[in-house]
Amino acid sequence: MNLSREQLATAVRALCADFGHDYWQRADEARAYPHEFVDALTDAGYLACLIPGEYGGMGLGMREACVILEEINRSGGNAAACHAQMYTMGTLLRHGSEEQKRRYLPGIALGELCLQAFAVTEPDAWSDTTRIRTFAERRGDRYVVNGQKVFISRVRQSDLMILLARTTPIDEVEKRTAGLSVFIVEMRDAGDAMRVNPIETMINHESCEVFFDGLEVPAENRIGDEGRGFRYIMSGMNAERILLASESIGDGMYFVDRASDYASAREVFGRRIGENQGVQFPIADAYMDVCAAAAVRDEAAREYDDGETRGEGPNMAKYLASRAAWKAANVAMDTFGGWGMASEYGIERKFREARLYMVAPVANNLVLSHVATHVLGMPRSF
Ligand SMILES: Cc1cc2nc3c(=O)[nH]c(=O)nc-3n(C[C@H](O)[C@H](O)[C@H](O)COP(=O)(O)OP(=O)(O)OC[C@H]3O[C@@H](n4cnc5c(N)ncnc54)[C@H](O)[C@@H]3O)c2cc1C
Repeated sequence: MNLSREQLATAVRALCADFGHDYWQRADEARAYPHEFVDALTDAGYLACLIPGEYGGMGLGMREACVILEEINRSGGNAAACHAQMYTMGTLLRHGSEEQKRRYLPGIALGELCLQAFAVTEPDAWSDTTRIRTFAERRGDRYVVNGQKVFISRVRQSDLMILLARTTPIDEVEKRTAGLSVFIVEMRDAGDAMRVNPIETMINHESCEVFFDGLEVPAENRIGDEGRGFRYIMSGMNAERILLASESIGDGMYFVDRASDYASAREVFGRRIGENQGVQFPIADAYMDVCAAAAVRDEAAREYDDGETRGEGPNMAKYLASRAAWKAANVAMDTFGGWGMASEYGIERKFREARLYMVAPVANNLVLSHVATHVLGMPRSF
């Protein structure tokens, strides 16, 4: 496909127009997975945008992937239902063997295989990923996995999961980041060795606890070298942060669009509320924050496409975009007055959804810590 980014944005907007406020509101109220929307995106090839043409994908770059997710959220939709297919696939693409890529990528590109599950977070470790305890023990031509993950999204919708597990106990490695390995798990074969419990959250997000009890994974499903998985996962996380920053930017623009329209139309005290600077200035202020975050995101995406592997740009983009969206969310709430709280206006759903990105996929405090220590060279606090 040879589209400019503007043409791509227009095409995604057209697809999203078939999935308006009522569609997302119904899915939210029913806590239902938006299958129809995800199917439409898959059929249009957008979820395979980062898969190279030789494996059946669109072969586009990170900048184009950002356009797709941003437009979905700007339209009022929720790209969180399917964003992981883009970045989990990147771990396989960047670090998988040619045989693994040929086995999985064409099926993912066609929509026959769903890879939306990315299993890192664990109770006991939380943000301290190197402390995870899920263990994959090598036994001949396979690994046997035991342990527990938490907040793992879209497990029930996926055929495949990218799993991070320890393969060497933490007290036997020189560096905490060593001894971790990445696997591609075919969940449909897991049977009783994998148990999945949904976690109810304030958003419609399909997040689950996952228990592994003697799950067998063929050794050929390990991605890259044993023990070097932390590095592979981190490179996937850079993509994740840039992509989710794009969703926040889409959310921010959604709030700014809705608030400025509403402020320009609603009359109170005989004048439009947007004529009051107390109403219009916060909207303009929020808009500029979203634009600034978008500029940082654009730079991070460009660097990623050029092969940059450091986390500085992706982390800063995620932090700034999530904060800009959250500010815009509160401004929209204020502008809509009481109607901001009413489900039928859509602001309260988006308000809940936008809040997620302050904490996930990485808590903003951890981003501040990254910038303070890795970028500015200050002493580490942990
Ligand atoms: C809806 C949802 C979906 C998710 N989906 C996935 C998924 O698909 N796969 C996956 O692997 N994970 C997933 N997660 C987990 C997510 O990545 C984590 O919740 C996130 O990284 C924050 O970590 P935590 O919840 O463990 O917070 P914690 O590590 O428990 O931290 C709690 C708070 O303490 C702060 N904090 C902790 N340590 C420090 C410190 N040293 N200095 C300053 N502040 C600190 C943090 O900033 C945070 O605000 C999901 C989470 C949610 C809510």
